Amino acid sequence: MRFVTKRDEDKTARLASEETYQALLGIIRTQNKGLITDSIYRDGYNTPDGKRSRVEDKLAISYKYKCAYCERLCKADIEHYRPKKGVEEEPTHPGYYWLCYEWSNLIPSCITCNREGGKHNKFPVLGPRVFTPPLLADGNINLTLCKSTLAPLLDERPCLLHPEVDKPEDYFTFELDPKGEGIRITGIDVDGRGESTIQICLLNRLEVKLDRVERVIDDFKDSVHCLFAQLENGEVSNEQFADRMTHSITLLRQRSQEDDRTHTYLRKYIVASVANFQAIVLPFLEPKTRNITLRAFQSLIG
Ligand SMILES: [Zn+2]
Repeated sequence: MRFVTKRDEDKTARLASEETYQALLGIIRTQNKGLITDSIYRDGYNTPDGKRSRVEDKLAISYKYKCAYCERLCKADIEHYRPKKGVEEEPTHPGYYWLCYEWSNLIPSCITCNREGGKHNKFPVLGPRVFTPPLLADGNINLTLCKSTLAPLLDERPCLLHPEVDKPEDYFTFELDPKGEGIRITGIDVDGRGESTIQICLLNRLEVKLDRVERVIDDFKDSVHCLFAQLENGEVSNEQFADRMTHSITLLRQRSQEDDRTHTYLRKYIVASVANFQAIVLPFLEPKTRNITLRAFQSLIG
């Protein structure tokens, strides 16, 4: 998960329309969740290459075509952060039906993070749960109080972190999988919201742990190993070796700044300190290459 800024003005014209507002009023007045229409929150359109969704398109731009939770590049589906039709942990809750068209409640998620067994209708909270829509005295909806970024929804303190509200560095760290199955993400906050998010979205499922290594570590590892082989074969001088090593480490740091790459937060974590680099990257390198690579990293970034 990485922190994302999604602009309110990027909402599609249909979501922002009076027609959608009236449709929402109808749902709230009748409390008929059967009226929730996916053609509104998807805003579909046809192209020669198949059906597309304007909302998915907009979300993909903010989220750089990645799943909000596992940060892999994917064709993400629109997920309602607060479930619209029911809450698994709270059987008496009707679901946050009044947020079905709310921009801050729409998040792109891959099928695996959102399926049954994954996030689905789970939405545990630590604070006071909101059960009813925020209505004004005249029966209209207070749309400001529907935003995930403001009270009273913010005060619910959801166990599932919101990429547009919560900063990942406050909640997550990484470690090697003890069974050798890639890199695990772990929660660090005392309230356990990071750990809950990991469990809800299954962020340590095998393919994600392995993908972190393949996408973030492997290129760097290959470049270091190739460089050491060239030095041993006499193909590069000591000076060229040092230059190319500097280049490889610089590239690692550069890529952590490119939000459109997979696993941005892991990339940032790795280059944030010598200790992080040592714990997450070095174990993947051949033992004979580790000391020199670490010293090069220290002199550049330490
Ligand atoms: Zn995902």
